[in-house]
Amino acid sequence: MTFPASAAPLTDVQRVLCVFAHPDDVDFGAAGTIAQWVADGLEVSYLVVTRGDAGGFDDTPREQMPVLREAEQRAAAAAIGVKQVEFLDGYADGTVTPSIPLRRDITAAIRRHRPDRVLTSAPLRRWDRMAGPSHPDHLAVGEATTCAIYPDSRNRFAFPELERDLGLAEWTVREVWYSGGPNPDVPVDITGTFGLKLAALRAHVSQVGHLDDLEGMLRGRFALLAQTLGLPDGRLAEAFSVFATA
Ligand SMILES: [Zn+2]
Repeated sequence: MTFPASAAPLTDVQRVLCVFAHPDDVDFGAAGTIAQWVADGLEVSYLVVTRGDAGGFDDTPREQMPVLREAEQRAAAAAIGVKQVEFLDGYADGTVTPSIPLRRDITAAIRRHRPDRVLTSAPLRRWDRMAGPSHPDHLAVGEATTCAIYPDSRNRFAFPELERDLGLAEWTVREVWYSGGPNPDVPVDITGTFGLKLAALRAHVSQVGHLDDLEGMLRGRFALLAQTLGLPDGRLAEAFSVFATA
């Protein structure tokens, strides 16, 4: 299964909410793009579903991992100028499903932040790469976020307790960007923000500290994406699938 061709991205976006499963997901997939959005004056917020408690590569005591990874994600956000970072409680790394409680929690965040654009992980599995993008938590968060965009957050009769108890009125998100999907066709040139992306990723010490050549690995990956999507030689690009949702 693949996505259809993307829509042309909106040009009048003011607020963006990024919803991802684990600390570091947003930075591997989209930090260069987000750094540009921040520079352009967009207000960007993060909602992270778990604290990445199943991550890491060394002997760090396991109970310290979620505390460490929350701090790493906050530092990574600060490196590219994102000021609002929220974590959900009650979801464990590796066990996330597109459940009704998760849809309700993401709906609450959408109604609170009132974003024009939502960026999340693709709900479609990539059969050519049984790794990163196809982690079940990523697929689950992509699916739950898509359900929260339509119909939950725009339907005032969905999760009525959100309006009744928290005053969170319905909100219609106009556009979704998916990261990590099977056939991304909207490249964003990140050559100018690559240094910021690298700084954000280096903040995830527990996840990348064991890698010998993080910069080389990233340059290779994002140069190939740029080349595949027709950017001039020597450019770096992140890539997305983009759809109108209103
Ligand atoms: Zn992840």
